[in-house]
Amino acid sequence: MEKICVAVRVRPPVSDESSNGTFWKVEDNRISLHKTLSTPITGASYTFDYVFDQDCRNQTVYELLTKDIIHAAVEGFNGTAFAYGQTSSGKTFTMNGSENDPGIIHLAVKDIFTKIQMTNDREFLIRVSYMEIYNEEINDLFAVENQKLQIHESLERGVFVAGLREEIVNSAEQVLKLIQSGEVNRHFGETNMNVRSSRSHTIFRMVIESKGKETSTSAYSSLDDAIRVSVLNLVDLAGSERIAKTGAGGVRLKEGKHINKSLMILGNVINKLSDGAKQRGHIPYRDSKLTRILQPALGGNAKTSIICTLAPEEVHVEETKGTLQFASRAK
Ligand code: ADP
Ligand code: MG
Repeated sequence: MEKICVAVRVRPPVSDESSNGTFWKVEDNRISLHKTLSTPITGASYTFDYVFDQDCRNQTVYELLTKDIIHAAVEGFNGTAFAYGQTSSGKTFTMNGSENDPGIIHLAVKDIFTKIQMTNDREFLIRVSYMEIYNEEINDLFAVENQKLQIHESLERGVFVAGLREEIVNSAEQVLKLIQSGEVNRHFGETNMNVRSSRSHTIFRMVIESKGKETSTSAYSSLDDAIRVSVLNLVDLAGSERIAKTGAGGVRLKEGKHINKSLMILGNVINKLSDGAKQRGHIPYRDSKLTRILQPALGGNAKTSIICTLAPEEVHVEETKGTLQFASRAK
């Protein structure tokens, strides 16, 4: 079993008069409460594999946390990288990036195609898909008409989302264009784009298939010629804030319940996986669509990393502690 790599990232504080700057101090791989608050908070110091401060760029996060997963995926191992945190803490910034700071997905896609070009003795077939889970319903972000897709299971294919569009791709540019079109689809019919995206889990998936080229001469190379298939998931999770805070009823309340439940199940699955093989027992993958879809690339030989993003302002201290607890349980 691969160890799950857990990191925390603090975004820069919002610069307006309502903000008192950051309430968290980062030293090496430790994060602790740094300003004295009106209400004392005890025991608030945490260590992780990595802690990234507000000056850290996506490139650094990628190099330290995700690159190994991406390289292993090209070699045939499954992998999953998550961004977890409350709304506005920097999940999408980390995964999708900005114009002058490309995110994990962008960097991963570029890296995969570079790696493939350098691998002369194998042929590759790359397929990508992009979906969201919103209110426990699976929607295809590459095809607006593909809504409410179902999860199926078969002997040959294992667990899969029936009808999900998969695009065969040949270049990083092509993938990045597809993702852009997916973003447009996501907001189809939405009046408030941020509301929807913060309440759904978004899964960008690459399936990397390769086989040895005919040219390899030795009879002993037959093992290397075997077809390898790996699945890589890059996941921007729904906002982890608790429902009560949003003070919502009706639709918002229903969304909140689905989110809290699926994030709790994800937490349970990850917690069991990180407990080690002996104590593990039953892993509740089947309890949510998110964990069911991710199951083949979560646990076993799959490589997993989690980046937990934090909003550093005082108003967010309670949610931030919740996120740090999630991160601590995942270690
Ligand atoms: P989330 O997806 O968790 O709701 P966002 O990624 O949308 O949060 O981030 C909220 C805001 O903070 C955005 O305007 C984003 O550009 C900014 N932001 C987040 N993280 C960083 C960072 N590390 N550096 C600079 N700006 C950031
Ligand atoms: Mg977001």
